[in-house]
Amino acid sequence: MNDLPEAPRKYVCRECRETCLEPLSAANPFDPADTICGCPTCKSAESLVWACQFEGCKAEVSYGTPGGYGFRYFSSCWKHSPLNQANSQGKTEEQRSCDEVVAEHSPVGLTHND
Ligand SMILES: [Zn+2]
Ligand SMILES: [Zn+2]
Repeated sequence: MNDLPEAPRKYVCRECRETCLEPLSAANPFDPADTICGCPTCKSAESLVWACQFEGCKAEVSYGTPGGYGFRYFSSCWKHSPLNQANSQGKTEEQRSCDEVVAEHSPVGLTHND
């Protein structure tokens, strides 16, 4: 009933913050039936988590949308979720991250009280 393609699975490393599509894998020396994954960039073991599937993004997945962007299931950070993208039309990626930085770092006392 749903013939949308699977979105490509992407991983991000919590050690070096690089993304990869094909993690290293090896049998777990403590449990041969188990497999451990490793980061191909920094060779850390078990440091990979699912990454936002939006191209070029290195954030961890926090949101999933069935049917998002024409895929069967699109896993993304909140910023790149299809819902959030639809809500923030017209604003570029760069503008949005600037706004966030300003909001986080505004010194106290600069708020307008009119
Ligand atoms: Zn790594
Ligand atoms: Zn993202």
